[in-house]
Amino acid sequence: MASFDIEPAFAAQLQWIREFVAEHIEPLDSAFSGEEFVFDKSHPAYVALIRPLQQRVKDQGLWSCHLRPEMGGQGYGQVSLAYINEILGRSTFAPTIFGCQAPDSGNAEIIAHYGTDEQRAEYLEPLLDGRVSSCYAMTEPQGGSDPSQFVTRARRDGDSWVIDGAKWFSSSFERASFIIVMAVTDPDVSVYKGTSMFLVPAGTPGLEIVRRTGVGWDAEGHGSHPYVRYNEVRVPAANLLGGEGQAFAIAQTRLGGGRLHHAMRTVGAVSRCLDMLCERALSRTTQGELLARKQMTQEKIADAWIELLQFRLQVLHAAWTVDTLGGHGAKREIAAVKVATPKVYNNAVMRTIQLHGALGVSNEMPLANMLLASVTMGIADGPTEVHKITVAREVLKDHKPAPTDWPSEHLPTRRAAAASLYPSVDEF
Ligand SMILES: Cc1cc2nc3c(=O)[nH]c(=O)nc-3n(C[C@H](O)[C@H](O)[C@H](O)COP(=O)(O)OP(=O)(O)OC[C@H]3O[C@@H](n4cnc5c(N)ncnc54)[C@H](O)[C@@H]3O)c2cc1C
Repeated sequence: MASFDIEPAFAAQLQWIREFVAEHIEPLDSAFSGEEFVFDKSHPAYVALIRPLQQRVKDQGLWSCHLRPEMGGQGYGQVSLAYINEILGRSTFAPTIFGCQAPDSGNAEIIAHYGTDEQRAEYLEPLLDGRVSSCYAMTEPQGGSDPSQFVTRARRDGDSWVIDGAKWFSSSFERASFIIVMAVTDPDVSVYKGTSMFLVPAGTPGLEIVRRTGVGWDAEGHGSHPYVRYNEVRVPAANLLGGEGQAFAIAQTRLGGGRLHHAMRTVGAVSRCLDMLCERALSRTTQGELLARKQMTQEKIADAWIELLQFRLQVLHAAWTVDTLGGHGAKREIAAVKVATPKVYNNAVMRTIQLHGALGVSNEMPLANMLLASVTMGIADGPTEVHKITVAREVLKDHKPAPTDWPSEHLPTRRAAAASLYPSVDEF
């Protein structure tokens, strides 16, 4: 039986997080939205403003809650993380201040899991401590959803690996101290067995930004998801992460948790939309009455609340399933949450924009950015269609084909079978 219970001590921690985010982090969002320094861990403003807040989170025992204690985290289960992340999801900078910002959080997980002692000391420790940033480079320009399209190669040359190819949408590439790169090491076997991961330090000769790709309102040529060429990039053999051919196993370790955590934070974003929607409905008068009294507004509010409740419970259920069965056992639930996330988020934002009229689409509300974020959720970490395929495959495992040419719900067939059990009414 699924349980989403909260212990009193944890409830107190959640209350602390709620107050801390509202009092200290949301004002930071307002004061520095769009400022690049917030992502530059060596910038003097970052050191002066962000680090003290991170320290308070550490003092409260809430730093990197998703990591196991031996990795410097708190070892919280996924249900607890769901409650934490839905609060953090209301703010842009909260994940950075709580040490769970993507892609660093997922990268830390895989280095901790697959890294050697030397790799952990060199790459994981500064990452966990929040001193450096990292990048994860898997997607290639000719195909992201289908890994069999990946052509970036790594070949062994003496004590080195030499990487050649191109990656794009490598988020945070320019801020990262190192990049985790996926490359084909054995083209003669399936991509799922012939692909490996490498740790590439920033500044390694041969790394070349082809274009700075951005999203939405970023000016062309500006953005933090660049298209990067790897021109014979040479790294020591010791920079192979995990074993040769293990890239997909490693990617799954990283992406499963990441997808769920995005969904948890989306619960927070969707509840923020509901708050904006209701406030507007109760504040704006048109044709002599509040918007809240118009039935079509009431429909929006009812739908918004119902979808939020359904989604929140779905996310908690998926979290509980991971806690109970592990990530692999919760494959269907994680994929289903990934499918629901962009849809629920998009519906929530669209309703809220609509009720705010021109203000809704303006640059004086956070909604237009949230709209783009909702669409992104249906593409990044694999598009919705691919995750629907996973859900369907997993669901089908619990079902069988019909035993005859007729479906098992076929009424004449069922009636004939029932006749052998019960006499006809005429016999009474
Ligand atoms: C904001 C953002 C940040 C990102 N950050 C990173 C990052 O840091 N590192 C990284 O490696 N990647 C990153 N990505 C890339 C992301 O993982 C890919 O965009 C994603 O995997 C989809 O690949 P694609 O863009 O090549 O789309 P494609 O694979 O070309 O797919 C395009 C569309 O085709 C359809 N489609 C694809 N496959 C199927 C199918 N099997 N059945 C039916 N329809 C299908 C879907 O509609 C899909 O949206 C990021 C993307 C975004 C938007």
